[in-house]
Amino acid sequence: MQLDYIIVGLGLAGLAFTKELDKYKKSYMVFEDNSQNSSIVAGGVYNPVILKRFTPVWNAEDQLKIALPFYKELEIQFHRKYDFPLDIYRIFKSVEEQNNWFATCDNPFLSKYMSTKLIKEKHEGVLANFGYGKLLNTGRIDTKSLLEDYRNYLSQRKLIRNESFQYNALKIKENKVEYKDVFASKIVFCEGFGLKNNPFFNKLPMQEAKGELITIYAPNLNIDFMIKAAVFVLPLGNNLYKVGATFNWKDKSQLPTEEGKNELATKLESFITVPFEIVEHIAGIRPTVKDRRPLVGKHPKHKNLAVLNGLGTRGVMIAPTVANALYNYLENGIELEREISIARFL
Ligand SMILES: Cc1cc2nc3c(=O)[nH]c(=O)nc-3n(C[C@H](O)[C@H](O)[C@H](O)COP(=O)(O)OP(=O)(O)OC[C@H]3O[C@@H](n4cnc5c(N)ncnc54)[C@H](O)[C@@H]3O)c2cc1C
Repeated sequence: MQLDYIIVGLGLAGLAFTKELDKYKKSYMVFEDNSQNSSIVAGGVYNPVILKRFTPVWNAEDQLKIALPFYKELEIQFHRKYDFPLDIYRIFKSVEEQNNWFATCDNPFLSKYMSTKLIKEKHEGVLANFGYGKLLNTGRIDTKSLLEDYRNYLSQRKLIRNESFQYNALKIKENKVEYKDVFASKIVFCEGFGLKNNPFFNKLPMQEAKGELITIYAPNLNIDFMIKAAVFVLPLGNNLYKVGATFNWKDKSQLPTEEGKNELATKLESFITVPFEIVEHIAGIRPTVKDRRPLVGKHPKHKNLAVLNGLGTRGVMIAPTVANALYNYLENGIELEREISIARFL
């Protein structure tokens, strides 16, 4: 089988890159083994403001300009809603925080996303004595449904094999690669934290962060916006809310832990006073990088091997932009910005 590309991994990175390939009618085969699930468990929030310090997220405006139409196209393609626009209400802990918020609203970029009104409305079961700051033009992508639909679509077209990619079976030739019965011009590795097992790229400085999330059933909590306080609370409908996430830099397992669950419940109880029941508990590993920027580029020696990784904590916003940049680099010779290129580590 002679193809343009082999893709290893179908999380948000692999999805965004294969979508580029579809757009330009390139042929490909995806290998996916379900060893990682960051994209499936993700909260899916897109938000251009860092809510701890009230500073802009790196390149957020440009990324959103590409990401929102990207998810809209997928909604049209699969006749299903994935993008749920939702305001985020940031609970203020003090008058000082209120003042910081309003001082930041003067920033020309942030003023598009931060309401200048102090929100004082009361919501049953939510402790917010200093009120809220409201973020605008934010939302949540249902990444789990999107990936399910995308994988089914690839299965129907026989473009995905549900098997683990064996790195030692890859044969690298001058202008092509061979893997079992598949010959391709190039291979792109999109394995998330699975990069650690990839002998061609595992020296890149990934500093992965495990995250755990719970879903709660809280019939007395009637909110239709996201709350950000000690943790995020995301309304899913039917009295269900996703709550997360933890950050753990040591534990490399995919499994949810009792410790993670207790941490989330304790943080939640610091501002939610109505009863809730935990109905789901999930975990994944975020492919974060030492300098908090993506990992994009070609292998220094084998030019037909490429990597698309390091989406960190913000894969929803970043994936479409970096997939497009990698495509243009590989197919049209358009140089990558140094900030995202793996050349910065070579
Ligand atoms: C708890 C949590 C909450 C998060 N919340 C948000 C959020 O609200 N907003 C946001 O934007 N981001 C969020 N993220 C981050 C986001 O999930 C990541 O940035 C993004 O999903 C990374 O996508 P990826 O495709 O690079 O990696 P992954 O999703 O890990 O995908 C890699 C894929 O490669 C496959 N694979 C790996 N090795 C092999 C192999 N050898 N053979 C075959 N297949 C292989 C894996 O099975 C996997 O499907 C969150 C992450 C976590 C863990």
